[in-house]
Amino acid sequence: MAKKGLLLCVCQGTCPSFQQMNIFDVGNAIRRDKLVDYVAIHPQLCATDGDKFLTTLLTGGETDELYVAGCDPTMQVKMFRDALDASRFSKEHIHGVDIRNMSTEQAVDSIKTLVS
Ligand code: SF4
Repeated sequence: MAKKGLLLCVCQGTCPSFQQMNIFDVGNAIRRDKLVDYVAIHPQLCATDGDKFLTTLLTGGETDELYVAGCDPTMQVKMFRDALDASRFSKEHIHGVDIRNMSTEQAVDSIKTLVS
């Protein structure tokens, strides 16, 4: 069965766009419903160490589908390009959703729609 992962990215937790939600509650809601195989929060996937995190995570083929809730999905793919290339992970298998300026409930609903 395809292994699915969800990363929550929050612009270091300081950006006002993520202040209306509790990001831990968002992750827990998805975990509780067992919609993915793993959930992680990263402070800044588009930073250099975020690139390394993504490359490390995706190298080796353990993840089949990766969902990323954070900023605009089109921007995500551009910012993650180096990591996707380095890990040979196809961008067809990375699915982004913009959860900025959402409440906890709205973010959970958006992620559920993306994953299911
Ligand atoms: S990838 Fe998007 S959500 Fe994550 S830190 Fe960068 S701009 Fe913010």
